[in-house]
Amino acid sequence: MIFKIYTLFPEFFSSPLKSGLMGKAVESGILEFRVIDIREYSEDRFRRCDDYPYGGGSGMVMMPQPLFSALEANEESTGTVLYTSPSGRTFDRDFSRELSGKGEISIICGHYEGVDQRVIERFVTHEVSIGDYVLSGGEYAALVIADAVARLVPGFMGNSQSLVEESFEGDLLEYPQYTRPAEYMGLKVPDLLLQGDHAKITLWRNEKRIEKTRAVRPDLYKKYLTRIILGE
Ligand code: SAM
Repeated sequence: MIFKIYTLFPEFFSSPLKSGLMGKAVESGILEFRVIDIREYSEDRFRRCDDYPYGGGSGMVMMPQPLFSALEANEESTGTVLYTSPSGRTFDRDFSRELSGKGEISIICGHYEGVDQRVIERFVTHEVSIGDYVLSGGEYAALVIADAVARLVPGFMGNSQSLVEESFEGDLLEYPQYTRPAEYMGLKVPDLLLQGDHAKITLWRNEKRIEKTRAVRPDLYKKYLTRIILGE
């Protein structure tokens, strides 16, 4: 899968794309990242990419010219082009699934007050928010989106079973996890997990998933209950 990332700060991506599972996937060729420096496309003699907003107000806006030139040079007309934005559709599991089915995704990282609206109208297929808060730049969001999508690409995860048992599967959060030792600083692992009865362990884990979801994510719990009641 190919990710094209449009950014004013290409150096932002150098360490994350070399680390952990993401680094391995890049090395093995499962993922390819093309980090495109928007500034290289600026026709301004000082490579400026931002200007004052029409209508007044604080902050600066990313100019259309560098982005139009960068996108025209690197995009096909049928591609998926995301713009990271607090006013986009909220990114979630379903959205990451939908995106993982695409062979190629482009992500525009905004800065300052965002990008000129004409860039969005001309090139963007989806505006995507990673949550109801404001970040200082779209690079943080681009990495979150790329990582969540990449995990669903076949071959990215060593053990694809991990994806089946994860939070949000079946509209529930994950059960608590423990590892050795069985007792640490007087804190014990629940006995049942040490007894090797897999049917009981499955039941216990399921109960814990329901309990936790009901306590911390009533919205998700409601979705789960509705699905169970409707027998879906
Ligand atoms: N003026 C914008 C507003 O009020 O919606 C906020 C701009 S923010 C300081 C700069 C950039 O960070 C945005 O253009 C966007 O690319 C990115 N960004 C900020 N919050 C985000 C979020 N919740 N999800 C995705 N991207 C975000």
